[in-house]
Amino acid sequence: MAEPILGIPLMLVNRAEQVFPTLTEAQVARIAVHGRKRPVQPGEVLLDLGDQLRFFVVTKGKIDILSVSGSTESLIVTLTPGQFTGEVNLLSGRRGFTRIRASEPGEVIEVDREHLLKLIQTDTELSDILMRAFILRRVELISHQIGDVVLLGSTYSPDTLRIREFLTRNGYPHAYIDLDKNTDAQELLDRFHVGLQDVPVVICRGKSVLRNPTNGEIADCLGFNEAVDETHPRDLVIVGAGPAGLAAAVYGASEGLDVLVIESQAPGGQAGSSSKIENYLGFPTGISGQALAGRAYAQAQKFGAQIMIAKRAKRLACGRKPYAIELDDGQSVSTRAVVIATGARYRKLSIDSAARFEGAGIYYGATFVESQLCCKKKWLSSVAGTPQVKRLCFSLKPPNASTCWCARTDWPQACRAI
Ligand SMILES: Cc1cc2nc3c(=O)[nH]c(=O)nc-3n(C[C@H](O)[C@H](O)[C@H](O)COP(=O)(O)OP(=O)(O)OC[C@H]3O[C@@H](n4cnc5c(N)ncnc54)[C@H](O)[C@@H]3O)c2cc1C
Repeated sequence: MAEPILGIPLMLVNRAEQVFPTLTEAQVARIAVHGRKRPVQPGEVLLDLGDQLRFFVVTKGKIDILSVSGSTESLIVTLTPGQFTGEVNLLSGRRGFTRIRASEPGEVIEVDREHLLKLIQTDTELSDILMRAFILRRVELISHQIGDVVLLGSTYSPDTLRIREFLTRNGYPHAYIDLDKNTDAQELLDRFHVGLQDVPVVICRGKSVLRNPTNGEIADCLGFNEAVDETHPRDLVIVGAGPAGLAAAVYGASEGLDVLVIESQAPGGQAGSSSKIENYLGFPTGISGQALAGRAYAQAQKFGAQIMIAKRAKRLACGRKPYAIELDDGQSVSTRAVVIATGARYRKLSIDSAARFEGAGIYYGATFVESQLCCKKKWLSSVAGTPQVKRLCFSLKPPNASTCWCARTDWPQACRAI
C-alpha cells in the first residue's frame, strides 16, 4: 500500500462543517435502519475507482478518501466517527473516482444507492445535510481539479473548447493541460503514445485514451448513462435539461412519476453558461447558471428522475402508444407522456467562413471558459447589443485588463465604467 501524499487541503475548505459534517448519534441510528453495520480492517479498500458507489457512515475508527493518479495516492480527507462518504455521483448512480480505505480497525454502516435515495426522500433533516454535503463536495472536487479525467488540449483548437465546455457544464472535475504552455506535457503524450495530431486527447480513468472524442464517447467512457435503463416505458420523458426541462423533471418526479430526461449537451441548457442570473425567483443576490443547474440537477435526481447526457432526441413517433422517442444512437425510449423543452437556437453570423473560426476566435455566448482563452486581451468587443453585453463586460474582464470596450455604442457607459 503506497503512503498517501497529503496534498489536497480539502479539510481546510470553507464551510468545512457543512462539507464534512459530523452526524449525531440519533441521525446515525436513523441511517443504520437502511443499511448494515460491518467491521473494517486497516488497509481494507471499501470502494475503488470505477466501482459502483455505495454510502458509508463511520461508526468506529477512521477511513481515508484518496485521489489516485497512476500509482500515486493523495489524501483528500480522513473521516472520523459520525462522518460519511459520498458526493453527487451517488445520486446519479455513476461510478466513483476516488478510493475509500480504512486506516484503522473500525466499523461502518454500509448503505446501497437505492436505500440511500429512499432515505433522502423520506428524512428531511438528513436529506438537507447529505444533499448540501454532496453538492459542496462536488464544488470542492471541481475547484481542486480532483477527478479521473485529464484533458490535453490547445487554446487554438475548437474541439478542446468543446470538450472543456462539455466537462465543465456537466460539473465533471478534470485536470486540463494546455499543450501550448506546458512543456512537460510531452512526457505525458509519450506515456500514452499520442501525438500532437491527436489533440485534444482525453485520458479517462488513467487508462482509456480518447483521441479527439465526441461528447458521446466521453459520456460513455465516464459511464454518464450507465445507471439509466432505456428499455422500460416511462411515465414521462422530457427532451432537454435546460431550466424548463429540469423544472418539469422535479415536478414530475416529486409527484411520483417515473421520469427520464434526455439531454444532448449538459444539464442547465443556456442558463448553465450564465455567469450570474439575477432575475430568477428566489435568488435575490443572484446565482451563477452553473450553480443553478447543479442544484436543479441534484434536486431532480433526489426525487428519482434519471437524466441521460449526450443523447439527442431525433424523432418522436406519436402514432403509437406508448409514444417512442428515437435517439441519435439508434436506441428508442417509450413513454406515456412527452415534454419537449429544447429551448431556442440562436442565429449565427452570416459571414463567409465564420464557421471555420467558431470556437477559435468566434464565440457564441462567451462564458468563463472562453474568457480564459483570451484573458491577456485588454478589451472585449461584441456585435450583440443586449444587456448580456453589459454583464459580459463585467464578468469576463480579466483581472489585469484595464479597459473593456464594446463595439456597440449604446452600451459605452457600462463598459467604460470598468
Ligand atoms: C450566457 C447566457 C446568460 C443568460 N442569462 C440570463 C439571465 O440572467 N436571466 C434570464 O432570465 N435569462 C438568461 N438567459 C436566457 C435563459 O438561459 C434561457 O431563457 C433559458 O435557459 C431557457 O430555458 P429552456 O429550458 O427553455 O431552454 P434551454 O436553456 O435552451 O435548454 C434547452 C436544452 O435542450 C437541449 N436540447 C435541444 N435539443 C435537444 C434534442 N433534440 N435532444 C436532447 N436535448 C436537446 C439543449 O442542449 C439544452 O440543454 C441567458 C442565456 C445565456 C446564453
